Formats: sequence, structure tokens, C-alpha cells
Amino acid sequence: MIPVVVVHGGAGHVPRERSEKSMEGVCSAARAGYTILRGGGNSMDAVVETVTQLENNPAFNAGCGSVLTNKGDVEMDAIVMDGKTLGSGAVSAVRNIANPIQLARLVMDKTSHVYLTAEGASQFARSMGIPEVPPESLVTEYSRMRWKKNLRPDANPVECQMGKMGTVGAVAVDSEGNIACATSTGGILNKMEGRVGDTPCIGSGGYADNNVGAVSTTGHGEAIMKVTLARLILFHMEQGKSAEAASDLALDYMKSRVGGLGGVVTVDPQGHWAARFSSLQMIWAAAQNDTLHYGLYTGEHFTQSIDDPH
Ligand code: ASP
Repeated sequence: MIPVVVVHGGAGHVPRERSEKSMEGVCSAARAGYTILRGGGNSMDAVVETVTQLENNPAFNAGCGSVLTNKGDVEMDAIVMDGKTLGSGAVSAVRNIANPIQLARLVMDKTSHVYLTAEGASQFARSMGIPEVPPESLVTEYSRMRWKKNLRPDANPVECQMGKMGTVGAVAVDSEGNIACATSTGGILNKMEGRVGDTPCIGSGGYADNNVGAVSTTGHGEAIMKVTLARLILFHMEQGKSAEAASDLALDYMKSRVGGLGGVVTVDPQGHWAARFSSLQMIWAAAQNDTLHYGLYTGEHFTQSIDDPH
């Protein structure tokens, strides 16, 4: 088995002045995940490390850098799924922690549940010794500026629905053939307090099954949930479609059926992978065979050696 990790940094539109930093962030997170896989590590460790790095990077809408609710607060959603056992862990509307993806993993590893929300998730985080961080430490100047802009009566509803930078996620296959996915987000701009998007919902924000493959999604959560985008892609793969064709079919369906745009990273058990999107852009990177692949616009695909200085 040839290990692979595929990472996205959100579907939508990345302002030019932020694209270089975001691309660097996704590429370095892909390298970190790949280093784990190359060293014989497992796919769950690889996707959690990859997503943790992106949560810690203020250029992304996850962890520090998350978009704000209509009240100006950060509420975050995250999911992990293990393709060997179909075990999953998710949290939603969590506040005051740096890495929701690690809390989601603890839900999977340390409880008999799949999904914890809001105050209950925070209590569980405390019981696991996860440090609370001050709410302001998750808020960037950029997210506050966009929050204020979107409070104005003339705010662009499309921008409210599709962020200008994104959610983060990863899928990976390790040398044993085990598959995993992880997705983490601050949600959508100026969302209602308590709004839960697709990201923590199993089959929407992500899904992993060693028998079929794995998907991590990004885009307009309300649309993604209506078509259970991640599971829909795996359904098409079960019917014999490639990772790429299945991703395109499901994204086209979401666009025509419910008018939703988004993006996905997908792998199959043989390590074939795809990074596909119907939004204007999606920052993505993949690492396999000591090669780093990356791109931003449709049809864009650059490569370099994984060990090249960057
Ligand atoms: N899917 C996320 C949500 O709706 C947002 C995104 O991917 O940008 O919460």
C-alpha cells in the first residue's frame, strides 16, 4: 500500500493577499501528515496532526481564525472517522479550546458516544485535561472585520454563505490500508448562535470506510447536509466510479438539486485520490510517493518533491 494524505483548506474564494499564506499552510500540513505516514504511522494520527496544524494557523476558518457567530463569538465543529471500525467522534458549537479536532478524537476514543455538543462537549474537554483558552485568542482581526462587515444591512448574503477562506480537512490511507478522515470548522459567517453545520455530521462533513474510501467536505453546510455529500460520494464509488468521477457526480448533484457549492478531498483503498470542487477555488494539497501535489483553481495542479526546501 502506498500511503497518501490529501488536505483541503476550504472551498470558496481566497482573497489574493491571503492565498500564498493559505497555500503554504495547506502544503506544510500535508507534509506533516505525510511524515507520519512515511514513518509507518497510522492514518488517524496523520489526519488529526494535519488538521491540528491548520486549526493553529490563523489563515483558516478553524480553531484560531474561525468565523464569528452573529453575536461575535467563536463556536466550532469537528469530526473524525476511522475506516477500519467505522468509529467516529464529533463535537459541535464548542468554545474556548484551541483544537476541536483533538476533542472529536477523544469523543471517539474515550466515550461510548459519537457526538457531543456545546456545554457538554466543554465539560468533557475539561475532564480530559484540555486547557481552556481565552475566547479572544481564537479571534483574528480579519474575522472581526468580516463579522462587522456582514452585520451591515447591505451585506452580501452569498459571502455569508460561502466563506472567503475555509474550513479544513484531510483524508489518508496508511501503509496497512487503513483509512481515516478529519474535518474542522468555525462554520459560516455570522451564523446564528447554536447553528450546527455539516462538518460534525457523520456522512456530511466526512466519512471513512476501509472497504470504500474516505471523504472530507467543505462548502455550504446546509446544502451539504441535504445531500449527505461525503456518503453520497462513497455510494458512487461503491457503484464502481473512481474517486474523481464520484466526487464530481456528487458535487454536480448538490449544485443542480439544492443549488449548493462546495469541495471535497477523496481517497480510495488503493490510494487513488481526488481534490474536486464546484466553488471558484479550493486550496488543496496531496502527498504520496514523496511528491507534493497542490492547487487552488480548477485544473491547477503543481508538483514538487516532498523534501524540497519551501
Ligand atoms: N461546511 C462549513 C459549514 O457550513 C463551512 C465551510 O466548509 O466553509 O459549517
